[in-house]
Amino acid sequence: MPEQPGKQEEKRGLTARKAENFSEWYTQVCGEQGARLCDLRYDVQGFIVHRPWAFRMLRRIYEWFEEEVERDGHEPYLFPAVIPEQNLLEEKEHAGFMPDVFWVTHAGVEELERRVALRPTGETQIYPMYGLWIRSYADLPWKGYQSRITTFRNEKQTRPFLRGREFMFFETHDVFRTHEDALAQIRKDMAMMDAVAWRKLKVPFVFFRRPQWDKFKGADDTYASDTMLPDGRRCQISSTHDLGHNFARAFDVLFKDEDGKDKPGFQTCFGPGIWRIFAAVIAVHGDDQGLVLPFGLAPVQAVIIPITFAGKEDAAAKVLAKARGLEQDLLKAGYAVKLDDSAQTPGFKFNQWELQGVPLRIELGPKEAEQGMLTLARRTDRGKVKVKESELVKAIEEQARLVDAEIERRASGYFKGNTKDARSFGELKRAIGEHRGFVRAPFCSMGKDGEACAEKVKEATTAVACGVPLDKPEKPAQGAKCVSCGKPAGLVMWFAKTV
Ligand SMILES: [Zn+2]
Repeated sequence: MPEQPGKQEEKRGLTARKAENFSEWYTQVCGEQGARLCDLRYDVQGFIVHRPWAFRMLRRIYEWFEEEVERDGHEPYLFPAVIPEQNLLEEKEHAGFMPDVFWVTHAGVEELERRVALRPTGETQIYPMYGLWIRSYADLPWKGYQSRITTFRNEKQTRPFLRGREFMFFETHDVFRTHEDALAQIRKDMAMMDAVAWRKLKVPFVFFRRPQWDKFKGADDTYASDTMLPDGRRCQISSTHDLGHNFARAFDVLFKDEDGKDKPGFQTCFGPGIWRIFAAVIAVHGDDQGLVLPFGLAPVQAVIIPITFAGKEDAAAKVLAKARGLEQDLLKAGYAVKLDDSAQTPGFKFNQWELQGVPLRIELGPKEAEQGMLTLARRTDRGKVKVKESELVKAIEEQARLVDAEIERRASGYFKGNTKDARSFGELKRAIGEHRGFVRAPFCSMGKDGEACAEKVKEATTAVACGVPLDKPEKPAQGAKCVSCGKPAGLVMWFAKTV
């Protein structure tokens, strides 16, 4: 067995520390020397290549959301990548997207009669069709979605999986007869985020109602989930918009009600940020050795590493044969398992699979193979157990649970540990300056009249007002005053710096 790893392979491994320099750590873990999730050498700024290890996980995240929305009655469709210019101008506020749009102006050498936009989001392409498809109240609720597409925005600063000029998109678009139905959907969207982002991926978040000055262009209200990155910045990982009648009026999304009158539908749209959720998995769970992946997400859940020694070919052959048998058993049991029988040293393989975040490692040496034993090692805390070969399937199940529980414990500990309270402007300023994460403070209003107060906080701290949690908004203490203007506080606002 050659002792020297290949020339290119020597470069792998992280040198940046996540706690000291998160930004550099993130760049390394995504790139060539890390887990090789994307490649920026494609050479168009803001457009990235998704490499297999990342793409397999992104596809899994898509599948989970597809299952969730279909269970909730949404039907799939696929719209073109381009939007007629006129559609983008139809809804007055939404037209604010114009500076963010990429345009197709030519076909070959011919200039197009009408230039078309690469879609920045789906509302203005989908709703004109809804206007044609929806007839009566009997058609409602109308729930549709498109998945596994990319959208395009003219972003200046780009980061892999956090902000791109082309990025992965998922969107639902629903039409209801009443506003109550629309509001009920927003809670269902929150439950879907809980099912995927928290339960499956262990990414903690708060589902906020955003302040009026931070709404989606064209929405009456915006609800969004924010997680917290290791540098303490909030990262928005989903949004649901209560569109009221705004788009329905602009695009004639009308239904004939029981009384025979044509009425606009109440619309909502939900977009879990596929990229952003993946970025949070990388950033929140990863450590200085590389990725740390929840068991259900990992493209390889357990890697089998045979420990063999040069000059002992007979023993090595026995170990390998046994390892192949174990691989088959685990594949049959439904696990994503890989036998690494490459020519690298065991130590090199350990490092490489740790870098990739594989949750469990199965070590099998000649002595163990003789005894019918093997060693299972966890990626999270590096704990090891010796198990009987005959009990491997059961042991994997048990160790997988431990890995996920540890990921969850760390993530939720970090999130809760970095959510603080402030009672005055000075406390808020100090808390944001000295600590990472969210700071809660009594505040006057979520309406337009609160905007100046939020602006004052932003100027002093660079932190933004994230909003108020939808499910359990905190009540300000008796007699509490807005930290910004000193008027009686109507609510407790969450603040954080943002990505
Ligand atoms: Zn105020």
